Amino acid sequence: MNKIEHIGIAVKDLDASNMVFEKLLGVPNYKIEEVLTEGVKTSFFKSGPNKIELLQGTNEDSPISKFLKKKGEGVHHIAFAVDDIVAEIARLKSEGFLILNETPKKGADNKLVAFIHPRSANGVLVELCQEIRD
Ligand code: ZN
Repeated sequence: MNKIEHIGIAVKDLDASNMVFEKLLGVPNYKIEEVLTEGVKTSFFKSGPNKIELLQGTNEDSPISKFLKKKGEGVHHIAFAVDDIVAEIARLKSEGFLILNETPKKGADNKLVAFIHPRSANGVLVELCQEIRD
């Protein structure tokens, strides 16, 4: 795994939270993107070399809506950049980690993504992401 690619934060109201994070970080978001297949709307901020992703559920069945109902707003996942997501999934699987989607799927921000169940990572939902190169 390479560096932390971004930190994902679950929010109830993306517009309101965009204003909070714009004030907090001193920069406006640079992108809003909806991932229809996941039922989420995302907003990205850059703070120096770091990225923050705000996520709001767009329907009741969205993993974000379920998370908010269970735990409330807050840090939702930590994403790590990887060079080869397929190889990294295989490595983590062989180490005993529970992979939520063994086939990488298309996430926000031009990335292929896969998630590691928090149960196998001390309560932290870990996202692997690989830039889509074409
Ligand atoms: Zn993410």
